[in-house]
Amino acid sequence: MKAIDESQTTGGLSFLDVEPFPQELPEGNSVEPRGIFYPTPSQDGAMARIRVPGGYLSAPQLQAIASIVDDLTSGYIQVTTRANFQIRVILPKYTDTVLGRLREAGFHPSGPGADNPRNVTTNPVSGFDPEELVDTQPWCQELALRLTSDAAYRNIPGKYNIAIDSGGQATVMEDSNDLSAHAVLAGGDVAFRISLGGASPDKDLGILVAPGNLVETMLATVRVHNRLRDQTNRLRFRAKYLWEVHSKEEILAGLEQELPEGILLTRTELPRQLLPAQPLAEHPQAGVFLQKQPGLHYIGVAVPVGQVSASQLRALAKLSEEYGDGTARLTVWQNLLLPNIKTADLAAVKTGLLDAGLHWRQSNLRSGIIACTGSRYCPYAHSDTKGHAIALGDYLEEHLEVDQPINIHFTGCPFSCAQHYVGDIGLLAAKNKHGTEAAYHVFEGGGFGQNHSIGRKVSEAPVPFQELKPYILNILRDWQEKRNPGETFQHYIQRAKAT
Ligand code: SF4
Repeated sequence: MKAIDESQTTGGLSFLDVEPFPQELPEGNSVEPRGIFYPTPSQDGAMARIRVPGGYLSAPQLQAIASIVDDLTSGYIQVTTRANFQIRVILPKYTDTVLGRLREAGFHPSGPGADNPRNVTTNPVSGFDPEELVDTQPWCQELALRLTSDAAYRNIPGKYNIAIDSGGQATVMEDSNDLSAHAVLAGGDVAFRISLGGASPDKDLGILVAPGNLVETMLATVRVHNRLRDQTNRLRFRAKYLWEVHSKEEILAGLEQELPEGILLTRTELPRQLLPAQPLAEHPQAGVFLQKQPGLHYIGVAVPVGQVSASQLRALAKLSEEYGDGTARLTVWQNLLLPNIKTADLAAVKTGLLDAGLHWRQSNLRSGIIACTGSRYCPYAHSDTKGHAIALGDYLEEHLEVDQPINIHFTGCPFSCAQHYVGDIGLLAAKNKHGTEAAYHVFEGGGFGQNHSIGRKVSEAPVPFQELKPYILNILRDWQEKRNPGETFQHYIQRAKAT
C-alpha cells in the first residue's frame, strides 16, 4: 500500500454505577462504538481515558468530546497508543458532568476494574484496506463489549492488551499485546492464529481459529491466562510470564476446558511466519490511500505525538460529515483517519485539514514518531517524552532527509506505553535521581508484524537529551550512508550486528 499523493505542503474519584451495556450488537456488518470513561487522579486533576474499541468513532462523538473538553477541562486531548482518547485536568466538581455528557455521546462508563482490559484494537483501516484478508472491526467491537460488560473479566490484570490483526498491509502492532489474533489464509479459508504474550513464533499457540469462533476463543484464552497467572506478583502478571512456568500443552489443555461446548481446537504444525501474509506497508496511517471500495479513499491525518485541540476535532468531524461517511478511526500511531472520501472531494478535504492546522502528508521521519504521555501528565514518567519527541522530530528534519520510513518510539518509564522495544529506534527514559537533565536508554532494530524483533540496547549509559539529538542523527546518517541499496534500517542494524 502506498500513499497516492504526497505532493502537498504541508481527588480520589470513584466509578459511577451505570446501566450495563446492551448485550446485542447491531445486525450485519455494522458496528456501534462504545466507550468507557475512567477517571484517574493525575497530578493536577483527573484524567479520563475514553475507550474507543477499534478506534471507531462517529462525527457527533468527535464533536461531543470537543465540547466537553472546551467546557470542562484544561483543553488537553491526546490520542493514545491504544487508539483511545485521553482528556486531562478535570476538576473533581466536573466529573459527574463529564461522565453524563460522555454517556449521552455513546461512551458508556462501566464498573470497577473496567479499564483493566485496555481498549481492544484492530487495524484502523480494517473494512477498507484493499489487501486485508477480512474486516476485523465487527469482532473487535463484539470482544470489547463482552470484556467490559461481563463481570468475569473484571479481575483480569491491569494494562491487559488485546489486538486483532486483519492480515492486510497495515499493522496494529499486535506483537506487543498480551493476547493477539492474526488473520491468515489456511487452505484457502481465512482463519486466525492466536498468540499469548507477544506475537513472536514462540508465543504462538499453534491453533487455527475459524472467524465465527474468534471471540469465544479469545475470551477463553483470557480466562486461561487469568487462572494460570502469578496471582501474587503484579510485576509478573503479563501473559509473557506464563511461558516461564507453563508449557504450550498446559495452556492448550486449559483452553480446551474453557472453550464453550461445540468449539474444538484445531491445531496446526505450520510455523506462523510461513503462512501467507502481505508485506507490510510503512506508515499506512499518514497520507492518502485508495480503499478497496472503488472510487473511495481514506486520509491519514498527521497528529504529532497524538496531541489535538478541540477546534481541530470539530474541523475533522465537519470534514467527515461533509465529505466522508460521518465516521473516523483513531490509530495506535496516535493519529486519526477519515475514510470514504470520493476522489472529487480529496482537494477540499486537504484544504480543510490545512485550514485546521493539520496536514495529511506522510513524512518518513515524523509519521513514525510516537510518544507516551510523559512527565507533563503521567506520575510515572522520568521525562517529557512528548516535548522531546517533537524537538527531536524538528531537529532531525532540519538536518537530514531519509528516503525510507523510520519509527522512533519514546517511552517515559518501563511500563513502555509507547513500546520502545518494537521501534526501529526505541528511547526509554532513565530514572532521574538528582534533578539532572532527562536522559534516555537507546534501543535499535525493533520491529513488528513480519519484521518482528525486540530492539537491542545500544547505549552504554543513558544519553542526556541534548546529546541524544546528534546521537540519533548519527545513527540515521550511518544507515543512509553505509547500507546496501534500498536496505531498511532494521535490516541494516541486524546485518551490522551479525558482522
Ligand atoms: Fe506513564 Fe510510563 Fe506509560 Fe509513559 S510509559 S505514559 S511514563 S506509565
